[in-house]
Order: sequence, then C-alpha cells, then structure tokens
Amino acid sequence: MDNLEKPQLAFSSTENICEYFKRYIVDVRGRSVSTYNHYVQGLRTISRYMKEAGLVKDSIYELGSIEQLEFAWSVLSKNEEFVALNKRGNNMYSAGYNNYHTFAKGDLFKNFTEHDIVKMDVPVVCEKPAVMEYKVWKRSGILRTQTIEMANYQCDMDHSHVTFIAEKTKKQYMEAHHIIPLQQQGKFEHSLDVYANLVSLCPICHRKIHLAIMEERRQMVDELYEKRRNRLVKCGFTLGKEEFEDIVLV
Ligand SMILES: [Zn+2]
Ligand SMILES: [Zn+2]
Repeated sequence: MDNLEKPQLAFSSTENICEYFKRYIVDVRGRSVSTYNHYVQGLRTISRYMKEAGLVKDSIYELGSIEQLEFAWSVLSKNEEFVALNKRGNNMYSAGYNNYHTFAKGDLFKNFTEHDIVKMDVPVVCEKPAVMEYKVWKRSGILRTQTIEMANYQCDMDHSHVTFIAEKTKKQYMEAHHIIPLQQQGKFEHSLDVYANLVSLCPICHRKIHLAIMEERRQMVDELYEKRRNRLVKCGFTLGKEEFEDIVLV
C-alpha cells in the first residue's frame, strides 16, 4: 500500500528527478539545453549552500516533498551571503530554483498532452535501496504529486469517481499508486519510480487494487497493462501480459 502503510522517506530518487527536470525543460517546455544547464548550475550552487546549512546531504534533489523544498529555500533566503550572490548573478540562482519549484509542484502538468507525457518516458538508472531500519526502495513524493496533478485530480480507472476536497491541496483527494510494486524493484534493472509506472487512484480503487479478490484485482491490473504497456516498454519494462500479472499480483 504505497501511500498508507509505508513510511515517507525524507529524500527522493535523485536520478529520476534530475532526468525528468531536464526532459521537462528541454522537451516539454522547449527551452534550450544551455538554459537547462544554466538552471542546473544555479541549483548546484543552491545545493552547496543547503549542504552547508545542514539541510541536505548532497543536493536539493534529495528533498522529496514540496514542503521540504520550500522550507529549505526559506532558510536560504535568509542567508545574506547567498542573497548577495544571487543579486550579483542577476537572480540566476533564484531562476533555477523557481523553475525547479514549478516543475516539482507539477503546476504545468495538468496542461500536458499525451504527447508531452510520452516524452517523459525514458529508462532511468536505478539506485541502490536505501538502508533504513529495514530495506526499502527510495520513492519520490514529488513524482506522486506530479502524477495526481497530471491526472487532473481524477481517478485513472474511471474519471467519474468522486472523493472529497482535501484540506492540503483544496483539490479532490487522490492517491498515487505504483502499478508494478516497488518491492519488485530487485527484479529490474531500471527504476520503477517513473511516471509511466504511476497512476492516480481514488481511495476505493487504490484499496481495491491492493486488497480485492483476485479476479477483481486481475481485471484492474489488465486494464492498466493495456493503458500503460507502451509507455512501460519505453522505460525499460518489456513484459508479456502473463508475466506482468505474475509480478503485479503478488
Ligand atoms: Zn498502491
Ligand atoms: Zn477510482
């Protein structure tokens, strides 16, 4: 039950975020690679300051939720040395941050066309599992937020499913679900924490796909297989339907 029973980690899968940020800036937003490099350069400096302030271990990409990102930025905004540097650099650092922040919040994801989404489907290098109290694969809170934003706060199984308005987002409550469970990461070379493997589900569908009787689960899983098969192939997951069912219906 990825949202509910697993602990939320304090960091995200950094390779995914970096890769997706690049695709987003260059392929979806149509900016030049040099603009992207400019942002990344700014983010590198920001990371250095955040590291010095003890906010991250290595980089800003570790911050796995919008709240953590905004908190770290608010700390940096009070650092006089950083503020002066940003001013001298014609706000290149805040430009990097603002673009990354907009990306992370998924503000523009609701305008994504199917064509845009497919541009984001690439195989992503897989990180080693994080060593916590027990072995768990890193997952990104940002990717979850973006997935729900991309689905326009609707259930991917059926757009007519209605939930309630959540206090936090003031939008219809939805949950993000990994189609191929992250516990199966050990069987794959590429990361399962990718957009193609994430769907937005209403709480009933989410519980149902995890806990319903096998026949009902199989029906849902088959439907998702048909919907996402091609996108999953693009991310390095080439699975026949039976193989897919065996891996998903554990
Ligand atoms: Zn789930
Ligand atoms: Zn639903």
